[in-house]
Formats: sequence, C-alpha cells, structure tokens
Amino acid sequence: MENIKQAAFQRKCEDRCTRETKELVAYIDGCAYKCPKCDAVVLLDETEYSTLACIYSDIEEIEKKCEDCNNLCTFERIGVSDYFEHPIDIEYRVGEEKEYRGVRVMMDDGPAIYIDTQAEEVQLSWDGVNVTRKISLYAVDAINDYFQWRYDCIQ
Ligand SMILES: [Zn+2]
Repeated sequence: MENIKQAAFQRKCEDRCTRETKELVAYIDGCAYKCPKCDAVVLLDETEYSTLACIYSDIEEIEKKCEDCNNLCTFERIGVSDYFEHPIDIEYRVGEEKEYRGVRVMMDDGPAIYIDTQAEEVQLSWDGVNVTRKISLYAVDAINDYFQWRYDCIQ
C-alpha cells in the first residue's frame, strides 16, 4: 500500500513538473494569451497555434470566447516577463566582476518549483521527491536575456 501511494505521489510530482515546463515554454514560444477582462491565461497548443499562424503572420491578439468569464474577448499575447511577474525568490549567479551569469527563480513554494538557467532545467521538490525537466537552449537564452535586463536594472 505504501509503495502504491509513493508511486502515485511520484507520478503527481512528475506531472506537475511537466505541466510547469510546458507552461514556461508556451510563454517563451509566444503561445500564451491573457483575457483582458478576467486575466485568465490560455496556452495554445502547437497545432492550434500553427494553424492560426498560417492565417496571420504575427498574432498579438486572438478573438476568443473566454471559458472563465464567458465573454467574447480579445486575448492579448503575453511573454517571458509575464511568466516571471510574481516570483517568490530570485537568486542571481554573478561573477567576481558582478557580471550576470545565470539565475535560479523560485516560482512556487508548495510544491517548490525553480527555474534554473545554469542547470537548464525546471526543478520540483515536494516532500522529499525531486523531479527535473530539461529546457531547451533557446528557452534558457530567452530567460537569461530577460533576467540579464532585470539584473542590470538593479545595478
Ligand atoms: Zn475572461
């Protein structure tokens, strides 16, 4: 019984980490849109996005019925800065000359979720279970560009 419970919990952690990684990548890929009325966020999947992308060259806005507030809304595209709007903690990695090298951002504390650009992964830690998901170099670069800018702002 304990083993079954443990395996189920492990799977729950894996799923949560996968979901977080997909969400992060969607924001970076420009597939995340926000309802202006209720702030609900929708993530378009790749097929949906590429179909739309064939019709419009650059989709900043999407007319769509919002499932949260039930209005027909003009959803606006959101990006990396929106994903990192409310981090719990930001730990910068800097060199001796104070130059930016990377960042580890805590996005949630129950479970603990970190985005780490030097490890190039999303990390989840929950009741002794640790799960990681690799993120692409492209995504790492996008996150580093944003946090380099943010770090420069506080210098
Ligand atoms: Zn809405």
